[in-house]
Amino acid sequence: MAHTLGDLPYAVDALEPYIDARTMEIHHDKHHATYVAKLNEALAKHPELESRGLEDLLRGIDQVPEDIRTAVRNHGGGHVNHTLFWAIMGPGGGGEPGGTVGAAIAKAFGSFDALKEKLSAAAVNQFGSGWAWLVVKDGGLAVQASANQDSPLLSGAAPVLGIDVWEHAYYLKYQNLRPKYVEAWWNTVNWAHVDELYKAATA
Ligand code: MN
Repeated sequence: MAHTLGDLPYAVDALEPYIDARTMEIHHDKHHATYVAKLNEALAKHPELESRGLEDLLRGIDQVPEDIRTAVRNHGGGHVNHTLFWAIMGPGGGGEPGGTVGAAIAKAFGSFDALKEKLSAAAVNQFGSGWAWLVVKDGGLAVQASANQDSPLLSGAAPVLGIDVWEHAYYLKYQNLRPKYVEAWWNTVNWAHVDELYKAATA
């Protein structure tokens, strides 16, 4: 079964004014679509991997055949990263996290503001294209950054929140002002979904 590009779970203008409709459109319909197409192109060379889930392939990237390993890492990473990214945002988002994840954040970082500061710094300071993540690793919450489309799954962590800091994610609206985008992005976070991901990752 080839991988498919899912629809955005909301309208392209649903995250206005924080993320503009045109950026969402190009980001989902062009960039994410290309990751899916190139992932499928790579996997077509190895039909024996057909039954393996993508997350499973990324967790065991060293066992992926060498001729498609980089493509799976980049385009497979691009596919899972963006699928997560659309889901952890939503209209009417932002505010402070409640639920299980809210309590876990307070315990791990001292406060939500402390997490926000740490994750924002990771996002702003990531050199070049990449992501900043809140992950579950070894049962606990941690902040990580990654280059390119590297998924936290590659290093045995489970992402529960991530911010895309590729220029394609913000350049139309924010140009070179990545910190402004990062600050605005917090207003889009769908904490209910992050809570679900956290519970699944720690179950
Ligand atoms: Mn992106």
